[in-house]
Amino acid sequence: MFDLIKLTDRTFYFDMPTKIGVYKIDDKRVFIIDTGISEKSAKRVLKTLGEMGLEVDFILNTHSHTDHAGGNKYICEATGCKAYTAEVEDVLIEFSDVEATLVYGGFPCRDFRKKFMNTPSCKTYNIAEAPLPKGTEIFPLYGHTAHMIGIKTPDDVYFIADVVNSKDTLDKVKICYVYDIDTQLETLEKLKELDGKLCVPAHAEVTENISTLAEENIKNLLEIREEILKILREKPLTAEELTANLCRNFGLKLDLMGLVMITSTVKSHLSSLRHKGIIDWVMEDFTWYWKIAEE
Ligand SMILES: [Zn+2]
Repeated sequence: MFDLIKLTDRTFYFDMPTKIGVYKIDDKRVFIIDTGISEKSAKRVLKTLGEMGLEVDFILNTHSHTDHAGGNKYICEATGCKAYTAEVEDVLIEFSDVEATLVYGGFPCRDFRKKFMNTPSCKTYNIAEAPLPKGTEIFPLYGHTAHMIGIKTPDDVYFIADVVNSKDTLDKVKICYVYDIDTQLETLEKLKELDGKLCVPAHAEVTENISTLAEENIKNLLEIREEILKILREKPLTAEELTANLCRNFGLKLDLMGLVMITSTVKSHLSSLRHKGIIDWVMEDFTWYWKIAEE
């Protein structure tokens, strides 16, 4: 069973690989923030809350990834509650094939959709319609996905989803999934303004000192950018060849899912560098190569 950790009188979280937030609306009802990766984890959450005499009134999803919305279908069907999230993310939770297409770049091959990119389809409503208790705030955390959001509970706890990775993850995984690099960098800069507030990242320790971790994540993105440029200075490469070089240089160990996610993130880095005029491309023999832009 996962521990339910108390942060304030009304705000709790389940200490799981992807944390689930719990806010007590009153003595009987809670809203939860995200639903975990699967039916199995969702069942455990409902069981624990049930034993405490608590019912889920509604779900707020920070974004569409399977480890955050994988339990939506089970919880919605078991309790009759509704799930809410930002626009775009709502569509991706309902149609997880689209999410997988976004990362894979075509009709998604089932071999890479094992644990992730496989959210059970669940109708999810726009956050503007959510019956939020007074004092709840929703704020944008765009970059990791197109429209990821953060949630501040009325008693000032900030659930900040996947905007930061832990130092351990940055060291081990190195190239963590990001959809839009420049927007992610802007979001990380803004995140520093939450320093001193109680922040709950989904995959890192709860902290009141988020700026240190935000800075580590910025440093990581800039380091990947520098490594890409170092490799491309040697010769033009395709996105896949560049990804292989990066993985070798960083000494990564990957499965197919990891490789697809990293290739997608490397392509996002390439778009960012291209939009800044730092790199250029050439098409030769029906192959798309990336190279350093000429002065
Ligand atoms: Zn995510």
